[in-house]
Amino acid sequence: MTSRTATATTCSEPLTDRAADTYRAADSDGFATRHANWVRWTRRAATAHNLAIALGVPPEHVAATDDPDRTYGIHGQYPGDRYRVHDPASGQTWDFLPDPTAHGHGWLLLGACACEALVPVARVAALADLGTELANPLENIPPECDGDPAHQTGCPYSRLNTVEE
Ligand SMILES: [Zn+2]
Repeated sequence: MTSRTATATTCSEPLTDRAADTYRAADSDGFATRHANWVRWTRRAATAHNLAIALGVPPEHVAATDDPDRTYGIHGQYPGDRYRVHDPASGQTWDFLPDPTAHGHGWLLLGACACEALVPVARVAALADLGTELANPLENIPPECDGDPAHQTGCPYSRLNTVEE
């Protein structure tokens, strides 16, 4: 998992240095190995860029990492993507997953369930959506919350509790 290391960039640096610094900050592990998995690299770089624009934060304040709770592929061999946004003004962070219905232009905000797992709690496509969720938490929980693999065993929203035996 990549840790976010936002670096301030200034316009006094050459464009190539600023661009590389921005993408290294967004996905340092992915940047170093980007040529080995170009599809993942481009997906994460584009998604982080779109998320930064949607929320009005500098691109270097959005970090892409492997999602520790959601995997894909027949054997679950591919980690999902998770994005952490750092608000430089407040110091607060928010975690997002790509919204599978939004084709790279929408995200699922993660929030704590009663079981303490981070699960999808709101759809966000623009800064206004995040503001609405922060003002009125948990009023529009997306269906992806129910059965999310991050729920702890025994949580009423856990997939294990919804399977009929
Ligand atoms: Zn839960």
